[in-house]
Order: sequence, then C-alpha cells, then structure tokens
Amino acid sequence: MNVGFIGLGIMGQPMARNALSAGFAVAVYDRMESRCDALRAAGAVVLHSAAEVSASADVVITMVPDTAAVEDVLFSAGGVAEGIRPGAVVIDMSTISPQATEQFAARLREKSVEMLDAPVSGGEPGAIAGTLSIMVGGARPVLDRFLPLLQSMGKRIVYCGGNGAGQKTKVVNQIVGSLNLLATIEGLRVAKAAGLDLPEVVQAVAGGAAGSWMLSNLGPKIIAGDFNPGFSIRLHAKDLRLANEFTQQLGLDTPGTSLAHRLFEEAMKQGLENLGNQGLYKLWSD
Ligand code: NAD
Repeated sequence: MNVGFIGLGIMGQPMARNALSAGFAVAVYDRMESRCDALRAAGAVVLHSAAEVSASADVVITMVPDTAAVEDVLFSAGGVAEGIRPGAVVIDMSTISPQATEQFAARLREKSVEMLDAPVSGGEPGAIAGTLSIMVGGARPVLDRFLPLLQSMGKRIVYCGGNGAGQKTKVVNQIVGSLNLLATIEGLRVAKAAGLDLPEVVQAVAGGAAGSWMLSNLGPKIIAGDFNPGFSIRLHAKDLRLANEFTQQLGLDTPGTSLAHRLFEEAMKQGLENLGNQGLYKLWSD
C-alpha cells in the first residue's frame, strides 16, 4: 500500500515515521522542506507538492494545522484533488471544523474519492510512542480497509459515525482536555501559594479521582518552567474556537467551554501563541 503523508510538524513527523516502521511505503510533503529531512533519512520518499504525493498514493494522510490548511492542501492548485486517482482515500488526521469536513468529503466523493476524518488525541508523546487515540468518521468499510495503517500510529481506534463524527468527537475531547488543563493550572497555583511541595502534590493528586493526562504530563512541565510546545497555544485556541462554534450551533449553555475559550484568546492577545498550552499558566503572575 502506498501512503502519502502531508504535514510533518510536531505530530506528523513521528506519525509518518511509525507508518514507515510498520512497513508501509511512505511518500511525504511539507511546505517547509526542512521538515522532511528526518523522514528522508528514515527511508521515506520526499515529494514537492500535495498533487505529486496523491498521484502515486492509495491513501493520502493530512496532518496540518487547521481547516484553512486542509482546504488548501486538498483543493488549491497543486493540491491533493488535482493528482488523486479515483478509488484512493483521503484520511484527514488534523483537528478541523466538523461542518467543513462534511463539505470536503462531499467534494472528494465527486472524484470517486472517499474521505475519513480521523483526528487524534495523546499529544506528542502519544504520536512518538504510536499510542494515539484516533476518532474516526466516514464509511465503516473504508476504516476497516485502512485499520492496519491507523494501528501503526494509534492504540485505540474508535469508529464514531459518518463524515464529521470523528471531528465532533474531537470537539468533546478538547472540551474535556481544556477543563482538565485549567484545573491543573489552578490547582498548582493554589498549591504554590500554600507553600506545598509541588511534585508531591502532582504525585498525590494524579493517583486519585482528580488524576488526568493534563495533570500527569503538563503538571511536571509547569513546575519545571518548561513551556516549550508539544501542543501550541495557537492550535489550542483554534480548537476552542471550533468547540465554541459547535456548542453554539447545538444551542447549549457551556460555561466551561466559554471560560477556556476566553482564557486562550487572552493568551493569544498577550503574545503567548507559540508556547505550549501549559503556558496558559503565564496568564497569572503569582
Ligand atoms: P505543527 O504546526 O507542528 O505542524 C503542522 C505542519 O503542517 C507544519 O510542518 C507545516 O509546515 C505543515 N503545513 C501547514 N500548511 C501546509 C500546507 N498548506 N501544505 C503542506 N504543509 C503544510 O502542528 P501539529 O502540532 O503537528 O498539529 C497538527 C494537527 O494535529 C493540528 O490540527 C492539531 O490541532 C492536531 N493535534 C495536535 C496535537 C499536539 O499535541 N501537537 C495533538 C492532537 C492533535
């Protein structure tokens, strides 16, 4: 099976590498050429446009920042839709708008190309270890066909429904994750002000009912003053915009989502966009 992989950032690089290690033939493209170097060294073929990647691919994976980037990669001049063969499949693993996903899937179907939305959770550590949780929308038989490929990148692969259902599930994931992150930051601020030993607090709380991925993975980074991005504030703010939009469409009152959205927009205004999302801690100076 020939796999095309587009978007070799923090997540895409290790994911493409895991597909290679599992024995898939992988051709890659990123608009920043230097992002392809490590994959070339690992045995991937490096190509120079999304159309070139799709021309020889049975399946094209996209892992780019946002809705506009996916639309660009798929449908602009030199994009996937230009080169792709009927019967091939697009798997978008980026986190983007559920509604746009439905539209992209319909546009690709006109070319006899099926699309899966397959956003992921588990962060950079999960991408490196190949243990991501993958939430899949689209036709079930298409998922069944590409399950071994997704299994090379993730441990828990869950079928969520038709096109867009994977992205809707990812919205839920981002709401739960964002509130866990806010809780982690607030808890650590209180622990610090109370003069507690912070690593011990994380150890104690993480082992009980208040434990979370955010507390276990980002708590120690905050304590160490490590604000390097695994997942950037810019992308997290983008996800909360999607979440806010989606909950409004549903007509729901979601105070937690609104609060997280407001705080991430504030972090953007304060120029924190390139920090990791644990850098939200810097909104407070105590
Ligand atoms: P990133 O910014 O590190 O990487 C994105 C890559 O896409 C970059 O290398 C960029 O050059 C490339 N790119 C952008 N536009 C392109 C285009 N038009 N053509 C070709 N290449 C293009 O982002 P990331 O952290 O790897 O995240 C990718 C996606 O995964 C995002 O949707 C993000 O929300 C989602 N995600 C990220 C994490 C995380 O922890 N980083 C976790 C889960 C989901």
